[in-house]
Amino acid sequence: MRKDGQADQERLLVGLVERTWHRVPHYRAKMEDLALAPEDVRSLEDLHKLPFTTKGDLRDTYPIGLLACEEKEIVRYHASSGTTGKPTVVAYTAEDLRLWRLAMSSCLETAGITSSDVIQIAYGYGLFTGGLGLHAGAEALGAAVIPASGGFSKRQILLMKDLKTTVLACTPSYALKLSEMLPGETEGLRLKTGIFGAEPWSEELRKTLENRLGITALDIYGLSEIMGPGVAMECPCKNGLHLVDDLFLAEIVDPETGKPLPDGEEGELVITTLRKEALPLIRYRTRDITRIIPGECPCGSPRKRIARIIGRTDEMLIIRGVNVFPSQIETALGRVPGLSHHYYLEVTGNEGHRDLHVTTESLEDLSIEARKRLRDRAACEVHDLLGIRTELHLLPPGSIERSEGKSQRIRTGI
Ligand SMILES: [Zn+2]
Repeated sequence: MRKDGQADQERLLVGLVERTWHRVPHYRAKMEDLALAPEDVRSLEDLHKLPFTTKGDLRDTYPIGLLACEEKEIVRYHASSGTTGKPTVVAYTAEDLRLWRLAMSSCLETAGITSSDVIQIAYGYGLFTGGLGLHAGAEALGAAVIPASGGFSKRQILLMKDLKTTVLACTPSYALKLSEMLPGETEGLRLKTGIFGAEPWSEELRKTLENRLGITALDIYGLSEIMGPGVAMECPCKNGLHLVDDLFLAEIVDPETGKPLPDGEEGELVITTLRKEALPLIRYRTRDITRIIPGECPCGSPRKRIARIIGRTDEMLIIRGVNVFPSQIETALGRVPGLSHHYYLEVTGNEGHRDLHVTTESLEDLSIEARKRLRDRAACEVHDLLGIRTELHLLPPGSIERSEGKSQRIRTGI
């Protein structure tokens, strides 16, 4: 990032700390607990002094206890699905929505998308930020938007062909489902780019989606607590996602100790929102594991890059002392020709001795011997990559339920 950009970040951070101190009692109490006053934060080097914010803080202050503006200034609410109990509610002022729109459209530009493109948005519209977030950014860019939302796959394909869609935006698992419905039918398609996110995915899945759909598949990152989609976006170099660092300050910390880690080291992504009015967050623990990629991107963008997300800390499985993320299993399975990329994981046993069951499926119907060979090859590939033995279950084609949104990779124990 350029020098003037850093000075801007510094000025915004100082302003953010003062604002939250005066307007959000929860933050003031947290800072007082650390014997911290607003004047103690004067530069980016002071960032580590500030307290973390966690999903628990948002839950404890449900629905909008961390609000830093007047309620009458709120113009929009979104909420993330609560896996347990209440959802996490986020609020936006008109200025927040304007900045979100700009962040999202700049992400689309990073992906090489222009006003001549036709963007089909197959993310869910509603409380989930995916659909409406992409929508506003694409409109701001001047592209033609097809607000298809998720599901109705046959209609998605019809619209894609008849309205000459050039950009498909959805979860990678839904793109996989759509690609399976199009064997040999890509001729009528004008697709050139895929904007895929909202769940971790692998390079192997990227290659499959690119081959099947004839596109460049790019990763987008965001989370509703921070804003929604538009926090970071891959450029066509496909070597990391550029952070929208005029709005967001990123750090990587050790997930266990919370200590900041240097660029290049893997850890938990922590984001501070520099300009948000309604719900500013200081050092928000995203629980997403990644690293900051040192050096400049060949595309010439001065924006910092984060590597593709490996997984979330709460999705990490510990199998006989080895940390395992679903996306690593996806990578291993993706290296085995003849598998469909669909899979799910189950864990059995107890703390001391856990077994990981991996269920996947073949692309074609196979003889008993061929099935056994493919299953052994897949188990071998997982073992080579992760160093653990797994119980591998290979099902016939089409056995695993297809996802139209975020896919459920970890199922409860069998
Ligand atoms: Zn780049």
